[in-house]
Amino acid sequence: MFGVYAPGRRAASLVYFGLFALQHRGQESAGIAASDGQTLTVFKDLGLVAQVFDEASLAGLEGHIAVGHTRYSTTGTTRWENAQPTHRQIGATSVALAHNGNLTNTADLAHELGVGSATTDSDLMTEAIARAVADGRSDGRGLELALVEVLPAFSGAFSLVVMDQGHLIGVRDPHGFRPLTLGRLETGDWVLSSETSALDLVGAKVERDVEPGEMVVIDAGGLRSFRPFPPARPALCIFEFVYFARPDSILDGRSVHAARQEMGRILATEHPALADVVVPVPESGIPAAEGYAQVSGLPYVDGLVKNRYVGRTFIEPSQMLRDRGIRLKLNPIPSTVAGRRVVLVDDSIVRGSTTRQLVQMMRDAGAVEVHLRISSPPYRWPCFYGMDTSDRSALLAARVALDDIADVLGADSVGYLSLPGLLEAVGGGDRSCTACLSGDYPTDVSGASDKFELERVARR
Ligand code: 5GP
Ligand code: SF4
Ligand code: MG
Repeated sequence: MFGVYAPGRRAASLVYFGLFALQHRGQESAGIAASDGQTLTVFKDLGLVAQVFDEASLAGLEGHIAVGHTRYSTTGTTRWENAQPTHRQIGATSVALAHNGNLTNTADLAHELGVGSATTDSDLMTEAIARAVADGRSDGRGLELALVEVLPAFSGAFSLVVMDQGHLIGVRDPHGFRPLTLGRLETGDWVLSSETSALDLVGAKVERDVEPGEMVVIDAGGLRSFRPFPPARPALCIFEFVYFARPDSILDGRSVHAARQEMGRILATEHPALADVVVPVPESGIPAAEGYAQVSGLPYVDGLVKNRYVGRTFIEPSQMLRDRGIRLKLNPIPSTVAGRRVVLVDDSIVRGSTTRQLVQMMRDAGAVEVHLRISSPPYRWPCFYGMDTSDRSALLAARVALDDIADVLGADSVGYLSLPGLLEAVGGGDRSCTACLSGDYPTDVSGASDKFELERVARR
């Protein structure tokens, strides 16, 4: 998500570049809403940022305020209607909203609003906000006051960028599951971005994070901060550090790349291996493999080549695409691994299907032993906060005992980073969500999308 408030500039062009830098956060659809102070225009479609936008579509997005989104679906399918920003017209006011995260009270919210639960979280939130705007005052602060009123009704993970014709607003849920940063252009104008790394491309500097539970309103009067929620424990998704965020981003004051290297160093101390070379699974396994190599003293070699032109395998929602995805994406380099005992370092194992194929690839390329080292603990619990892992029966570590995992994956050994090791590496343990690794959910998830799943979890 990206938002810009910059009088005198075409905000949509800046948002376009911001989305380009945030493409890794979602590849199903892309969209931008823009306003010149009078008229709010939205353009969105299925596909990557570069596929959705061209000069003509960007030219139609006039004005100094804009918000944009790239979508990664955890609920709802890949349809045009589910692309964001979602938007509503309420009398003379137009509202557009982009959402990163996942609500855990979607069904209740849909029921209260009397709309079908088949819509997306973003659509539901936009509807709730639109109704509050319709009920409220129509003096320029309509959207701001409507948000203060309805935001506490949303549960779960939601970082939002919202706008009407005259305001840009950023919101982080009280736990701050998903990141959101405030940046500033050279002109002093404001930018909102899911990650700090996207600020560089538009020439903005990091000002500070939007804090968990904070709402910032930016308009002609400058920036104002609100606290619409009761205080809660900060719980930034630890998988932002492990896998999701770009390595050149800073999360909660900590470099993602530095945290990943540290995970690898600690992993090497916790799970040494008798081997000849350390091979990363590109891209997300690279910094951890560097850290592992440093501490183990084993040489770091490239044993897998990644095709740069395909997206993340996981993000494509169907299993068929996922299975095909691995061969589209990675190919071994036999000359570096043949005849060697390989430590294969990756960031996580979720379903295990990618990992099993990677181990086999290493063997086919001539590796004599394959020792898997994973820079996060076993992923055992479904995520209800915006990662596509809500089906627990698909999680390898939830259905297979730890001692059997190496066998199931065809590896000679498996070692996972411990939870204390991971918390040490990110340097902010008590400010993290670790629910998928610990079962300790920061919010009530009994109303989350997959109810049956939770009943099964509760019975364990
Ligand atoms: P698996 O072996 O579980 O099928 O796949 C594990 C691989 O998926 C890892 O290389 C990891 O980097 C990648 N991956 C892709 N998308 C995601 C995601 O959304 N969450 C996590 N934890 N890993 C992902
Ligand atoms: Fe992140 Fe896991 Fe928490 Fe989901 S459950 S928000 S993936 S740490
Ligand atoms: Mg990976």
